[in-house]
Amino acid sequence: MIRITQLKLPVGHTEDELYQKIAKILRTDKKNIKRACIRRQSLDARKKPDLFYSYTIDAELSLPCSKTFLQKAKNVQLVVLGEDCYHFVKPGKQKLLAPPVIIGTGPAGLFCALMLARHGYCPLVLERGHDVLHRQKTVERFWQTGRLDPSSNVQFGEGGAGTFSDGKLNTLVKDPCFRNRLVLEIFREFGAEEAVLYQNKPHIGTDALCHIVRRMREEILRLGGDIRFGCQVTDLILEQGRVCGVVTGQGERIPSQSVVLAIGHSARDTFSMLQKRGIPMSAKAFAVGLRIQHPQAMINYAQYGQETVESLGAADYKLTWKAANGRGVYSFCMCPGGYVVNASSEPEMLAVNGMSYHDRAGINANSAMIVTVTPDDYPCKDSLAGMEFQRVLERQAFQAGKGKIPVQLYKDFLNGRKSSSLGDVLPQMKGGWEFGPLHQILPPALTEALREGIQAFGQVIPGFDRADAVLAGIESRTSSPVRIWRDDQMESAVKGLYPCGEGAGYAGGITSAAMDGVRVAEAIASRYQPFDGKTQD
Ligand SMILES: Cc1cc2nc3c(=O)[nH]c(=O)nc-3n(C[C@H](O)[C@H](O)[C@H](O)COP(=O)(O)OP(=O)(O)OC[C@H]3O[C@@H](n4cnc5c(N)ncnc54)[C@H](O)[C@@H]3O)c2cc1C
Repeated sequence: MIRITQLKLPVGHTEDELYQKIAKILRTDKKNIKRACIRRQSLDARKKPDLFYSYTIDAELSLPCSKTFLQKAKNVQLVVLGEDCYHFVKPGKQKLLAPPVIIGTGPAGLFCALMLARHGYCPLVLERGHDVLHRQKTVERFWQTGRLDPSSNVQFGEGGAGTFSDGKLNTLVKDPCFRNRLVLEIFREFGAEEAVLYQNKPHIGTDALCHIVRRMREEILRLGGDIRFGCQVTDLILEQGRVCGVVTGQGERIPSQSVVLAIGHSARDTFSMLQKRGIPMSAKAFAVGLRIQHPQAMINYAQYGQETVESLGAADYKLTWKAANGRGVYSFCMCPGGYVVNASSEPEMLAVNGMSYHDRAGINANSAMIVTVTPDDYPCKDSLAGMEFQRVLERQAFQAGKGKIPVQLYKDFLNGRKSSSLGDVLPQMKGGWEFGPLHQILPPALTEALREGIQAFGQVIPGFDRADAVLAGIESRTSSPVRIWRDDQMESAVKGLYPCGEGAGYAGGITSAAMDGVRVAEAIASRYQPFDGKTQD
């Protein structure tokens, strides 16, 4: 195959124009192109409103190019397909006495289970929440009535925290073993659009994600795995420094010598159980803040130089600022054409997050404006101090909004007064909202940094610091407040226990959590033979 990089075409170009461009670069006739596949597509908006795509293309020709041409040609090289793809590990020798147990069906747990099921390990997956169909109902009911189901909500249930999200799949995690590509290919296999394989910033959207996780579940079951919903793991069975099984909320004792802890960043009761059981872990830095909303058209104009670009859809942004008090302020989990959602999972506590549907057609853009907090910010030095810090903020947010999402306009946040009416920006929320004093929730240094950061972002995106920008809070679940220690065999000091994904402190986001799930599956498979289906004592 011939790989062409930095092939530029105006946004809105046709497929034929792409083939013409390939033919021109390779100095050949269009008819000579047997096939061409997009490896990468990124947007170049430096000359907005003139917008371009920059492509990496793999092309196969009927009549090959001359060696001399290939040596001289810029951004053109020969590649051997199949060299840069993922390979699973060879199975280990040790015998499994019982199936591996995976706790959680978020991206980490689900990808770990799928990889193990595909290689004959018949994993048993235990999920405290409901299956995705049932979960959609409990979440919709919560958003309409405020009645929270602590076991099935935006954080807990089939698909994990990312199910009700924008489903952004980009990650900064390095990928020497092509696990990132594998994860995207698996999302594609179970229903995501082909574009996720090559877009610079791929996204799925919550409406598509729900079907994808259900199909992945069906595949794991078809391959001999088992998945139980409404099945919370409430304890570990430990003997002489190794795990021998788990105990469920129903009191069932399930034997296993390999247990994957893919529990996510919100499993606070499980973190407490692990601490009681002496599982080595420590407090970890994360970030907290508020979600801000602006008219999507305003963001499009800033990023594209036009209010709408049909073929591109809603624009996104990424912003960072260093405040005078040394705190870093940055935008996080930006949701173009999206909604601010009530993402709470504990009674009388309120946390927000953001989501978009696949079409990103909402009238507002939103993102979290967040500031890093470290164990120095937590009053006590306990490994779960960060978790308690989150709880304090969420309790205040719950009170500030009288049980609903507290909202404040930027001008009032700046001047420390409660809002009483909206401007032109109409809040797009999933869950009830109420005006509340957000400026009183966060520690003063963080509030100060946010005020300054949003003002500074107004220099980058005109109108970002507009008086009627809508703030909502509290954004507290940006990543895990703890790290559960593991060695390079992916194992805790307690043998057979595999901390995995975001909750354990080894991932941040859907794709990196899924990649970590694949790594843990490799660690288990490289130690054990596939499970022969006969559980032994
Ligand atoms: C609203 C929202 C929007 C988001 N948007 C994006 C986005 O667009 N892109 C992105 O990359 N990331 C996004 N994220 C973050 C992303 O969802 C997480 O990083 C990712 O889901 C982490 O995966 P995980 O498998 O490690 O944990 P989780 O997805 O949190 O899954 C953990 C699972 O374990 C289960 N569990 C916990 N404790 C137990 C127990 N004791 N017994 C049994 N089961 C248990 C939980 O119910 C849950 O289903 C978003 C998060 C939220 C909440």
